Amino acid sequence: ETGDAQQTTSAPADGEQALRGGRLLVLTGPAGVGKGTVETALRKKHPEVWVSVSATTRKPRPGEVNGLNYWFMNDDEFIAKEAAGEFLETAVVHGLAHYGTPLKPVEEHLAAGTPTILEIDLQGARRVKERAKELGMDVLSVFIAPPSFDELVRRLTSRGTETEEERNRRLETAHTELAAEHEFDVTIVNDNVEKAAEELWTLIAREYGIAE
Ligand code: 5GP
Repeated sequence: ETGDAQQTTSAPADGEQALRGGRLLVLTGPAGVGKGTVETALRKKHPEVWVSVSATTRKPRPGEVNGLNYWFMNDDEFIAKEAAGEFLETAVVHGLAHYGTPLKPVEEHLAAGTPTILEIDLQGARRVKERAKELGMDVLSVFIAPPSFDELVRRLTSRGTETEEERNRRLETAHTELAAEHEFDVTIVNDNVEKAAEELWTLIAREYGIAE
């Protein structure tokens, strides 16, 4: 665990935002667009940003660590947690596995004024938006876009860690997700990882009233 850095600023003093800290940043983009890479670059420069660790029922990939990349669990555990209301949102992604955002850590980090990011799929982003009002959360949705669809296909097919069936499903999902860009508050084009991370930081700094 990396732990949380000290918060050096306070949230804007108006209405709900003052109550719940800053806005929750929900990051979505088609598979293969490099969301994870952008986040890693952001966190390297700005370790005070907290990225939610999702639960999933898919198998860990080589190098993935439980509690760091995901909370890996079996279907029974996941369904029990879901029934107990422990998730802010859940989704079945690519028709293959369950994914969910544990609610409590998100609430705690927001309440502490820590810049908080969810990296989730389109269905999840939509659900968070729906639930945000009921939970008194203010959400800023960010779409990470590829420079072009061809580039996305290239990135998706060069990862090489998946079966052809998985890749095809990801491509299909990518089509759907690209078409949803207009639903988001902000678009960041990932043509350069460092640049995209800096754009994301600019957004966060503005939302949380942090001097850049
Ligand atoms: P991967 O299995 O490649 O790590 O992730 C597959 C997809 O699941 C990505 O689009 C990722 O954004 C999404 N995802 C990861 N965690 C969550 C989550 O907690 N909720 C939802 N809805 N999607 C998630």
